[in-house]
Amino acid sequence: MSRRGFATRQVHERARRDGDARIATSRATPIYLTAGFEFGEYDDAAAHFGRGEGYAYTRIGNPTVDAVEHTLAALEGGSQALLLASGQAATTVALLGLLEAGQHVVSSTHVYEGTRGLLRDNLSRLGITTTFVSEIDDLEAWEAAILPTTRVLFAESISNASNRLVDIPALADLAHRHGIALVIDNTFATPYLVRPLELGADVVVHSASKFLAGHGSVLGGAIVDSGRLDETSLGRLYPHLTAPGRGGVPSVFERVGGDARIAYAREAVAPRFGPTPSPLNAFLIGQGVETLSLRVERQSANALAVAQWLAGRPEVASVDYVGLPAHRDHHLALRDLPDGFGSVFSFTLHGDADTARAFVEALEVFTHMTHLGDVRSLVLHPASTSHAALTDAERAAVGVHDGTLRVSIGIEDAADLIDDLSHALTVASDVPVAVLA
Ligand SMILES: *Cc1c(COP(=O)(O)O)cnc(C)c1O
Repeated sequence: MSRRGFATRQVHERARRDGDARIATSRATPIYLTAGFEFGEYDDAAAHFGRGEGYAYTRIGNPTVDAVEHTLAALEGGSQALLLASGQAATTVALLGLLEAGQHVVSSTHVYEGTRGLLRDNLSRLGITTTFVSEIDDLEAWEAAILPTTRVLFAESISNASNRLVDIPALADLAHRHGIALVIDNTFATPYLVRPLELGADVVVHSASKFLAGHGSVLGGAIVDSGRLDETSLGRLYPHLTAPGRGGVPSVFERVGGDARIAYAREAVAPRFGPTPSPLNAFLIGQGVETLSLRVERQSANALAVAQWLAGRPEVASVDYVGLPAHRDHHLALRDLPDGFGSVFSFTLHGDADTARAFVEALEVFTHMTHLGDVRSLVLHPASTSHAALTDAERAAVGVHDGTLRVSIGIEDAADLIDDLSHALTVASDVPVAVLA
C-alpha cells in the first residue's frame, strides 16, 4: 500500500482487520468512545497484561486511535506512530522517552514557544538541560554544542516566526556520527510537503491540532518513528531500551528491535504520564488527514501569492516567507519542499505596535487568533502574544519586531485575502507612528 501516491495513501491507508462477514464493515473509522473493553475469555485478561494482546483500556490502546496512528505512520514514511492529546504532549513524550536526568538536548533557537518553555523551564527542573543554537545553518555550531551527555538534536522543519529551515540530511548525519537521535517537529510542513524520516531524521513530532486536523476543532499530537536504530551505540547511549524489564523480562529492544524507541514511548511513557487522546478527537483528526494534501497544496499556493503581493507593498518592511527568493533558506526550500512552501509566515510593517494593531483590527476575512494550519486564514501579533515573554533581544533573534504579524493562510480565494490585506494596509498606514522621545 505504501508504494501508492500520497493522496491515495491519505484516504486508503488504514489498519485492516481480516474480513469477518458477521462484522459490519463501516467505511468510516468507527469511534470506540469507551474507557475500556470487555475481555472475551477469562484468559484474555492475563494475555493482555502479560503480552499486551488485545484491547483493555483506552489509555493503553484504542482501535480508533490505532487507525489514525496507522495512517500517520504511512504518510510520514515511518514505521509506527503514537497519537497523543496535544502537540505539547507529543514533544514531551518523545523527549521523555529518550532522555533522563543529567542528559542534554541541542535545540534550534527557532522553535515553537511552548517547546522552548518545555526545554528551558520544565525539563530543566528534571535535570535535563538544553543548549539553543541560533545559527541553525552552521553545522559547526550544532556540533560544538554536543556534549557527551547529549541524546537529542531538536529542530523544526519550517519554523516560526522567520520561516527558517534546517538542513535535515546534514543534521541527521551529524546526529548519527554521535549515535544520537534527530527529532524534527514537522507541524508547519506536514508530511505532504516534507517527510523528515525519509531525509534521515529518527523521530517526527506533530501538533495534529494544526494542519493534520485542519478544521481547528480539536487538539492532538503525534510521534512518528523511523524504526531505525543504531544498534552499536544503543546500549551505551540509551540503556533503558536494552536493559531487561522488571522481573528479568526481555528488553524493549529484544522484543521489538528497531521499534524500541516508539515502543518505549507507547508502553512506558505515554500511559504513565497520561496524555491520552480522546477517541472522538482521534476520529476528527483522521477525518482531517484524508484531505491534507488538497488543503496544504491550496494553502501553499495562496501563501505564495499573498507573500509575493505583500513583498511588493511600500507599507511592508519585510516578508519572511521561505518561498520567496530573497529568504536566506530559499535554496533549501527548493531542494526539500518541491510541492509547496507551507502556509504560515510572518511579515513586518513599517511603523510600530499601533500600526500592527490598526492593521489587525481592520481585517475582516482573516480571523485574529492564536492558531495555525486552519482552513481559514488567521493572523496574530507575536510581540504582544506568543513572544511577549521574551526579551527584546530574544525576540529580534527569532525575527519578531513590534510591527511583525504572523499569518496562517487558509483555503479561501486568494483575491479575497489580498483585498482584505490591501484594505487593512491602507487603514494602518494612516495611523501616526509614535515619535521616540
Ligand atoms: C502548536 C504547536 C505545537 C504545540 O501543539 P499543541 O497541539 O498546541 O499542544 C508544537 N509545535 C508547533 C510547531 C506548533 O505549531
